[in-house]
Amino acid sequence: MAFLDGWRFCPRCGAAGDPRDGRFACAECGHVVWANSVPGVEAVIERDGCILLARRANEPAKGLWDLPGGFAHEGEDPLVALAREVREETGLELDDVSLLGIWIEPDYEGRSVFSVTYRASARPGDARPADDVAELRWVDPAELPPDEDFAFEHTPPALVLWRARQQHA
Ligand SMILES: [Zn+2]
Repeated sequence: MAFLDGWRFCPRCGAAGDPRDGRFACAECGHVVWANSVPGVEAVIERDGCILLARRANEPAKGLWDLPGGFAHEGEDPLVALAREVREETGLELDDVSLLGIWIEPDYEGRSVFSVTYRASARPGDARPADDVAELRWVDPAELPPDEDFAFEHTPPALVLWRARQQHA
């Protein structure tokens, strides 16, 4: 499954065309659409030795565990996007944000996600689930849910890297 699969018409002028080599180039108006991954931001949020997991309220992967975060808007700074998404989903503000790594999530409703994953600490305040989060839980890193209880396949390896960094800090 890829973003441009099944595209037959230019979204700007409506002329017929075919995607090729990961792009749709319109022969009529010159409009080009690239099949890029979608930029997402998220964070392993730490407090008192635990990390914050969010149970998804909506499809895809409703009911499974995720890291707080979401999609960046067009032109939005990734750190601004992270602060906005975490505030919307948890009510928390972040401190000491640093990059953990970048992973590709291969299939989020037919799109691949370019997931920029940070680590951060939470400022004081209660975490309250909102937006597309059904439940928030502070989890001891030694007692994480099994991999199959995570919504996305990049999350367990991201948490493995996070734990390795903790042990070498
Ligand atoms: Zn066109």
